[in-house]
Amino acid sequence: MLKLYNTLSRKKEAFKPLKKGLVRLYTCGITAYWFPHIGNLRTYLFEDILKRVLKYNNFKVKHVMNITDVGHLTSDADTGEDKMIKALKREGKELNEKSILEIANLYTKAFKKDLKNLNIIEPDIWCKATEHIKEQIDMVKKLFKNNYAYETDEAVYFDTSKLKDYAKLAKLDLKGLREGARTQKRINKKNPTDFALWLKLVGEHKNHIMNWNSPWGKGFPGWHIECSAMSIKYLGKQFDIHCGGIDHIPVHHTNERAQNIGALGSPAVNFWMHGEFLILKKGRMGKSEGNIVILNELIKKGFNPLAYRYLTLNAHYRSKLTFSLKTLESAQNALENLYEKIRNLQTKNKKQKTDKKKLNEYKNKFLEHINNDLNIPKALALAWDLTKDKNLSNKEKYKLLLDFDKVFGLKLSEIKEIKIPQKIKTLLKARENYRKQDDWKKADETRKQIEKLGYKIEDTKQGVKVKKP
Ligand code: AMP
Ligand code: ZN
Repeated sequence: MLKLYNTLSRKKEAFKPLKKGLVRLYTCGITAYWFPHIGNLRTYLFEDILKRVLKYNNFKVKHVMNITDVGHLTSDADTGEDKMIKALKREGKELNEKSILEIANLYTKAFKKDLKNLNIIEPDIWCKATEHIKEQIDMVKKLFKNNYAYETDEAVYFDTSKLKDYAKLAKLDLKGLREGARTQKRINKKNPTDFALWLKLVGEHKNHIMNWNSPWGKGFPGWHIECSAMSIKYLGKQFDIHCGGIDHIPVHHTNERAQNIGALGSPAVNFWMHGEFLILKKGRMGKSEGNIVILNELIKKGFNPLAYRYLTLNAHYRSKLTFSLKTLESAQNALENLYEKIRNLQTKNKKQKTDKKKLNEYKNKFLEHINNDLNIPKALALAWDLTKDKNLSNKEKYKLLLDFDKVFGLKLSEIKEIKIPQKIKTLLKARENYRKQDDWKKADETRKQIEKLGYKIEDTKQGVKVKKP
């Protein structure tokens, strides 16, 4: 039985899709104003693992992800500049609609490339905020009709005092928030937790580039309404799982949940799931902290992007993970070793009889781990135990590891045994002989000859290894 931790109940709960056999999943995408950092990517890796585990359990998955290209202000509290406009200024681009769409396309493309490099399965549906303005306006209209919205000179707000359990998802301390708000610069809201559904072209947003007509005048949607409107459009009034990083619990997802209940009369989301942060030794990694690491930089440094994937598999998604180049190097070494094992397992061994009971034990244990709220670190440790087990044939081990890799996503099936041609074997033998005779010059020449033929030699403690780079 699959158990997943539901942020709403703060408990692991038995998971069953609402519609038999089909899981409807919504994950918040990026705000496309800068390269996604590897912290963001940790969240998308967690969501990919979730999706793979669902598929491993024979569920079909319908996955929707949004791209935010309007409305996300630099402060989550409905103030500050629109992040897209900030990006235009940073890059010295003209402030017009065309450049905004260009920037959004550029960073969306970069994001998709990262997903590909990390072997993350793409969503079935991508949706952009700017292409769903009508749906967002319709939802705000519903909120008005149901008495959850009010209009001021600067915006349309959601009245959070109308929703009894507004604080439920985040376990927010509303009293503390109210007291804290007294000292803050107040905008014209009834309650400090009220949030914008639609922003008008006044004050700091007077010259907002992207704007649309609405019943409340020209303006643009608040950040949270896009995810409510698009998730319901594509997944229905009730769907299974909504994910994001933990920073989304107190504001973005709390507000999405409020909008859903306000518009539909009942919560749309069955399970809320959140991934913990990737941090640096000095604290959180963030675009505003100015200490972000992007995947491309790591690739340029010579890392295999899947080494980053492997690194994240070693920590449970609900634990913090501290990133350093040193830990990434260890992950790359471990991944290389795993690939080496996979290569070796493709050759037959003497023990061709497999202990069937033992094999089933591995299969059951694997399922137990992944179905225990995605305990991938344990599943990975089990895979390593399997590589070393003497009771199983190479063939069975190889087959089972490839099966486990449906969840890990480390592309083990692409690792092929290296067939070394006779010519190289002869040269290797010759090099060994030169080395034994201390003829280093000739040994070195032979190594170069081998390299010219497209093979690489590594002298390890276990002897000479040949690779095809
Ligand atoms: P954003 O583009 O800021 O909306 O973030 C995209 C996704 O990355 C969201 O699900 C965030 O919760 C998540 N996220 C942001 N920073 C981190 C981090 N340091 N570690 C893990 N996830 C993060
Ligand atoms: Zn969202």
